[in-house]
This record gives sequence, C-alpha cells and structure tokens, in this order.
Amino acid sequence: MNNKTDFNHFNTLLVQNVGSKVGPIAPTITPSAAFGYEDAEQAEGIFSAQVNKPLYARVGNPTNAKLESIVAKVEGGFGAIATSSGMGAISMVCTAFLSAGDEILCIGGFFGGTYSLVNETLSRFGVSNSFCEVNDFTHIENKLKSGVKMVLFESVGNPSLTLPDVQGIIDLCNQYDTLVMIDNTATPLLLRPLEMGADIVVHSSTKNMSGHSAALGGIAVFREVDPQDDKLLHEKYADVHKIVKKMGKKAFIPICKKRAIRDYGMTANAFGSFMTMIGLETLSLRVERVNKSVETIANQLEQKLPKGVTVNHPCLVSSPDNARYLSDFPDGCGPLLTLDCGTKENAFKLLNALILVTQTANIGDNRTLALHMQSTIYSDFDAETRKFLGVTDGLIRVSIGLEDPTVIAEDFLEAAQEL
Ligand SMILES: *Cc1c(COP(=O)(O)O)cnc(C)c1O
Repeated sequence: MNNKTDFNHFNTLLVQNVGSKVGPIAPTITPSAAFGYEDAEQAEGIFSAQVNKPLYARVGNPTNAKLESIVAKVEGGFGAIATSSGMGAISMVCTAFLSAGDEILCIGGFFGGTYSLVNETLSRFGVSNSFCEVNDFTHIENKLKSGVKMVLFESVGNPSLTLPDVQGIIDLCNQYDTLVMIDNTATPLLLRPLEMGADIVVHSSTKNMSGHSAALGGIAVFREVDPQDDKLLHEKYADVHKIVKKMGKKAFIPICKKRAIRDYGMTANAFGSFMTMIGLETLSLRVERVNKSVETIANQLEQKLPKGVTVNHPCLVSSPDNARYLSDFPDGCGPLLTLDCGTKENAFKLLNALILVTQTANIGDNRTLALHMQSTIYSDFDAETRKFLGVTDGLIRVSIGLEDPTVIAEDFLEAAQEL
C-alpha cells in the first residue's frame, strides 16, 4: 500500500473543517453541562438515541461533537468520542469491552500510563494481560488463538522507538476476529490504521494534535460496523451483541458511551475541545515540518556527538528499524528521538546544560522538549520492566518542535561538550 502522507490534502481538510464560512468562523464553545428538551416526547427520543440532540454534557456536547467529526475524517473513521485525556480514551475503550476474566494482549513498548493501566489497574478488576516484543508473531498468534479479547499497541514505541509491522498485526487480528486498538498519538496523518483495517484508533490529543500544550485531551476513533458480518458478532463479544443489533453501523459509539463514559465520566470539556481544534488547524503543516526536522537533527547528532552519547531514531541507517521506517513510515514516525548518555549522571549533566530545550514530560509540543526517562515517568517501574520498555539508565527522550533544526542540534551538541 502507499504510505505517503498527502500533507496538502490534510491542510485543506483541516482548515476547512475547523473553520465555518457562515457566522462565527472559529468553533463555538458550548459550555453548558445540561440541555433543555422541547417536551417529554423529545426527552424520551434523546434518551433512546432516536433524536440526535445533546442529552447531558457527560455523554456529549456540541463542541466535542465538532472535534469528533473532524478527527474521524482525518483518520478515515466512522465516528469518534473525545475524552478528558489520552488515558481517558484508552481506559474508555478498555472498560467498554473488557470484563473480569478477559485478557488483553499488549505488543511492544508502551507509554508509562498505558503500561500501568493494563498491568496494575485493569488487573485489579480481573482483566489479565500479556506483553510481548513487537516482532514476536508466534506469541501474538498463540494469544489470538487462545481467545484474547483485545490487542493494543502503539504506532511507535515510546520511548523505545521500535516500529511495529502495523499491517501484519492488524491482518492477524482480523483473521482471528479480535478487536485491535492502536495508540496513534505519535503519528497522526503519518499512519492511518483504520484505513489498514484496525477497529479503534486512540490519541492523546494533548500532544501533536494540539501542539500548544494548552489543552489536555484524548480521542478514540472507530470504524464502521457491518451489522450482518462483523467481528463484534463473534461469541466472545456476546455482551455487546444487543447494542450492535440495535445500533448497527455506529455501534462502537453507544458501546463506549453506555458501557464506559456514562458511568466513569472521562468526558472531554468544551473549552478543551475548542483549544484542540485550534491546534488541529495547523496539524498538517506542523507534522510535515517536525518530521523533516527530526531527520535533520538525528543525522547531525549522529555525525557530531562526542563518544559516550548515542542518538537513536529509525531514520538512521544504524537503527535496527531503518528498513521498516523507509517502507512503512516514509514521511516520518513522529516527533521523538532518544539520546543514550550511558549513565544517569551524564544524562542529568547534558539536560542541565541545554539552553533552548525545555525539560518536561510532554511530547508533540511546538517547542523542543527533553526528559530523563528512568528518574521520571519510569521511576516506579522495576529494572526488568524498564528493560522491556527500552528505558536504559542514561536515556533522554527528546520531542522535536518547530524551531530551526540546526539551532536545536547545536543546543544538544554544545550541552554534550559538558560530559
Ligand atoms: C501522553 C500519552 C498518552 C496519555 O495521554 P494523556 O493525554 O497524557 O492522558 C497515551 N499514549 C501516548 C503514546 C502518549 O504519549
């Protein structure tokens, strides 16, 4: 398949869909928590989903709805649900579909919050899990045969930067009628898993989608359901068959609303969704720019960093993922690269000598950010888990922003002189 990203197409789609031609051009913020109904009959219709009007802001809001329709178009999905954060989106989908006794298969490296959601929180509620390396197709197929209920992986391992065979995993999940959810936070526009046959895509919109660090948010995007022949009709999904039969093509939305968001309330707020849309207008421009800069910076650092510091990015010929990068991620795999300084002390020295780069736990920001992994996001994890996730003692994660790439590379090279 052709994996090239048509940035011009997305520029047009995004600015035209975020803005309106008539009336207020910027998206309207509807801050109301409740919405009056015309009469008792309309109230009944809204609650039974026969009438499409706002019910109560916990289960939907017109500003969120606009954001949802834009992101659904970008991902080639049928519908979407905006949530309070990226973790909100992942936990919404997990709790909507998983029950005590079910198993979730997690492939590759994971964001710390996702790892602990699965490993600690969901397991407290009786959902078991297994983790495997990104290329361990024997394990994946064995787990699919044994009836796991859901498969979850990230488009790009964070911070390991391993690249999965996205199409291969999706095809295998479809062969075994198993739901597959992909966290596409790092690669909006660059990878469109729903078009490749995935069921659910989630994003932390806090990151690349917004870019401005002004709004925490998440979103889950769903494919269309085939009411006659769909993996959701498999017996292992029997507890959602009633909703699939009643709601047909859009069944993913009521499944997540009725089985998660209504009861847990991980809903997006109107102001956050407004801010996310302001970011989305420029997403295509920013993604194109950042992904070019990442390659420039990775190459400059590889050539010029002193001994003792190494740079990792799949665009480098030295990376074990270089072949997959070239074939499957031809326009880039997101804003991240990593530096390994060998020891925690050296990593701290380098970080503290940076002049332009901001130290924070975010990624996908318009500014370049850096963070020592082991002492922050992964400080609660034992050594074995850190090893599985690719977190070495000297590892710094860098998220490239919109600045002049040469100036950012210089900031790292100057700082590395301190070691
Ligand atoms: C940040 C992040 C999340 C969690 O998103 P929040 O908006 O912080 O809740 C999930 N997955 C990935 C890959 C992330 O980078």
